[in-house]
Amino acid sequence: MTPLGRPAVRLLGVTKTYGAVPAVDAVDLDVLDGELVTVIGPSGCGKSTVLRLIAGLERPDTGAIVLAGHEVAGPAGFVPPERRRVGLVFQDHALFPHLTVARNVAFGLDRLERGRRDARVREVLGLVRLGDLAGRYPHELSGGEQQRVALARALAPEPTVVLLDEPFSSLDETLRAQVRAELVGVLRETGTTAVLVTHDQTEALSVGDRVVVMRAGRVEQTGTPQEVFERPASRFVASFMGDADFLPAHVHPERGGALLTCEIGIVSTLPGWGGTDADVEVVLRPHEVALTAGADHATAGAGVVTDVEYHGAFVLHTVRLTSGRTLRSWQPHAVRHPVGAPVTASVVPGLTPTLLRGDRAVTSPADVAGPADGDAAPRGRSTLRS
Ligand code: ADP
Repeated sequence: MTPLGRPAVRLLGVTKTYGAVPAVDAVDLDVLDGELVTVIGPSGCGKSTVLRLIAGLERPDTGAIVLAGHEVAGPAGFVPPERRRVGLVFQDHALFPHLTVARNVAFGLDRLERGRRDARVREVLGLVRLGDLAGRYPHELSGGEQQRVALARALAPEPTVVLLDEPFSSLDETLRAQVRAELVGVLRETGTTAVLVTHDQTEALSVGDRVVVMRAGRVEQTGTPQEVFERPASRFVASFMGDADFLPAHVHPERGGALLTCEIGIVSTLPGWGGTDADVEVVLRPHEVALTAGADHATAGAGVVTDVEYHGAFVLHTVRLTSGRTLRSWQPHAVRHPVGAPVTASVVPGLTPTLLRGDRAVTSPADVAGPADGDAAPRGRSTLRS
C-alpha cells in the first residue's frame, strides 16, 4: 500500500510516438491509492497505450512514470514489466488453457513457498467466488468465470495497481453487466487501485471514481463522473459523454444579473454574470428538453417531430425547430408525439447549463470577454473547469 495522499500511479508528461503521430501526447495522470479510474475515448485515442506504458510493455519517449513512489520509467531508468507489481486483465482473458484455474492463479506466485502460495490461491479464488472451480480448466468455464479467474490471477501477487483493458467487451450484453458488477465489487472490497479502459460511456461513468476522457493522445478532461457529464470542459466531451445538441444562445444583461436565452426560450438565469452581453452556445441533453403538443410559430421553441425512437422506458423524439436546427428530447414511455406533429420545445426548469465559446466550455464572464477561440485554441489547456 502506498501512504495515504500519494498517488499509486503517476504519469508526468508522458509521450509515446509510433511513426509520426504521438499515440500518447504529454499525458499527466494521477491515480490515488484505492481509486478506480476509467479511461475513455474514441478508438485509437491512446487508451491502451497508456495502460501498456504503465505496465512497462512500452517505453515512453519522454516523461516519467512513477508507481508507488518509485520511478519505473523516465530519466532514472526503466523497470521491466515483471518487476513493476502491476496486474493485467485483458478482454480475451489470456488464461493458460493447459493449466487448471488454481494453477493459472498461482502462476505469478512462484516466489512464495508452496503452503503460502496455496493459501493465497484459495484466498483470491474465494474473493472472486470460484473456490469450487479450482480444479477446472479454462474451457470448462463460462466467459464471465474466465474473466473472474483473470482478475484473481491479477490480484494474487498483491499488485500496486490492476490495469483492465476493455475487460467486458467480449462478453454478451446480459452477462456484461453482471460480470462488471462482480469484478468492480471485488476491486472495491479489496481496496485495489485500478485503471479500466473502456469505450462505453455508461461503463466509464458508472464504474469510475474518476473518469479520464482522451482524444487524439491527449487528456481532454479528468473529473468525477458527474463533472465530465454535467460540466464538460469542451464540445468534444459534451458530445462524446452522452447525447448532446448545441444551440446558439445569448447572455442578456438583466436587472441585477444575466439571463440566458436561445431559440427554445429562456434557459436560466446566470448568477455572477451580471451586466454580460455575449453570444455563446448552450449544450442541451435530451433529458433537459421538454416537449408540449402544438406549436405557435410566433412562440419560442416551435417545431415539428421528425423522428421517434422507442427505447422501452423512454421514447427519444427528434424535433426540427423553425431555424432548421434539430434537438432531441427524452419523453416518458407513455408520451408519443407522432412524426410530423407540431410541438413546442422548452428547457426543463432548474437546469445549470453548459455554455460553449468555440470548442471550449465557458464558466464566467471573463471567458467570453475576447473573441471565440474555436478550433485554433491550444488543446488540453484551458482556463475552464477541469
Ligand atoms: P485505443 O486503445 O484508444 O484504441 P491505442 O492506444 O491502441 O488506442 O492506439 C493509439 C494509436 O497508436 C493508434 O493510432 C494506433 O494505431 C497506434 N498504435 C498503437 N500501438 C501501436 C504499435 N505497436 N505500432 C504502431 N502504432 C501503434
